[in-house]
Amino acid sequence: MHLFEFKRPEDEAAAIATAAQAKTAQQGAEVRFLAGGTTLIDLMKLNVETPARVLDINRLPLGEMETTSDGGLRIGATVRNSDLAYHERVQRDYPVLSQAILSGASAQLRNMATTAGNLLQRTRCVYFRDTAMPCNKREPGSGCPAIIGSNRTMAILGTSDHCIATHPSDMCVAMAALEAVIHVQGPTGARSIPIGEFHLLPGDTPHRETVLEAGDLITHVTLPPPRSGSRQVYVKLRDRASYEFALSSAAVVMQVEGGTITYIRIALGGVGTKPWRAPEAEAALMGKPAKADNCREAAEATLRNAKPQSENKFKIELAKRCLTHALQTAANG
Ligand SMILES: Cc1cc2nc3c(=O)[nH]c(=O)nc-3n(C[C@H](O)[C@H](O)[C@H](O)COP(=O)(O)OP(=O)(O)OC[C@H]3O[C@@H](n4cnc5c(N)ncnc54)[C@H](O)[C@@H]3O)c2cc1C
Ligand code: SF4
Repeated sequence: MHLFEFKRPEDEAAAIATAAQAKTAQQGAEVRFLAGGTTLIDLMKLNVETPARVLDINRLPLGEMETTSDGGLRIGATVRNSDLAYHERVQRDYPVLSQAILSGASAQLRNMATTAGNLLQRTRCVYFRDTAMPCNKREPGSGCPAIIGSNRTMAILGTSDHCIATHPSDMCVAMAALEAVIHVQGPTGARSIPIGEFHLLPGDTPHRETVLEAGDLITHVTLPPPRSGSRQVYVKLRDRASYEFALSSAAVVMQVEGGTITYIRIALGGVGTKPWRAPEAEAALMGKPAKADNCREAAEATLRNAKPQSENKFKIELAKRCLTHALQTAANG
């Protein structure tokens, strides 16, 4: 394995050109960007990822945060999760993002983990991380042992007959509710991808996790201008109080005027194969009084099409309660 270190701004183009030599940006890619390394190095130690070349992007000028011309926020790809969570503007204008990041991993990991790396973190499915086992995501066509095996922590929304792995990120759930946009520089130029279109459902190609192509470098993420006076809440339920992934989580951004919900964005974590936006719940709540029974009805609507496996039926009620609680907390201001 060769390690390339890029130090100057002009090296960005060189990094992209080198990465574009890979056949794919997905699993099995020969060339990988290295940011915090808390996913990549972990998976390399397990032989799940075996890149021939690793490009260290930490010295590229992608580590800044600044206000955009429309009053939103631009977050560089290598901004550390801790710096993002504790940034004054994030705590004031996008508190749901701060809460979500601080609910994840550990302080040490958050000090290393980056914005782009978090967007591209990979599932914690035990079979995916064990090369002695088949896994369609790791080795397309080899099978999905989780469907008849250990599936307590797996997804109940967005699954397919080929993969039921949960998307593990907390940060992405808050970004989905905030309608973040991911900016990419690739061999054919720059493009911007709304977060809802960035991650892919597994379908029959679970090894394809995002819309990224070989050579695509995430340069930054933007958040739209904050909704003034919005109430923002992230609730995360898990097996232990820290250093644990979500069994169910909910991010809510809500505006209430005269007791009526006038703006609402909802996303769920721990239950979907991608960060799970909940349009049914949003539609059920828009223009309604922010009352407990309306919150519960919205949660019911979101989980209506949930498809549990043998060990994770409990997640349906857990997710409903998680979302209801998050909505009521936001509604009560
Ligand atoms: C023990 C443990 C517990 C954890 N708990 C949680 C948790 O509770 N909640 C949670 O959300 N997360 C959790 N995580 C995951 C953690 O948040 C991720 O590992 C981290 O965010 C990944 O960021 P990174 O910068 O280290 O990524 P890296 O490992 O450097 O990279 C990850 C992937 O992104 C690619 N990449 C990185 N930067 C770019 C870029 N700019 N453009 C294109 N590709 C890029 C890399 O090539 C690689 O494929 C946990 C991790 C560990 C090890
Ligand atoms: S759920 Fe997905 S990641 Fe887990 S074993 Fe099945 S195919 Fe692999």
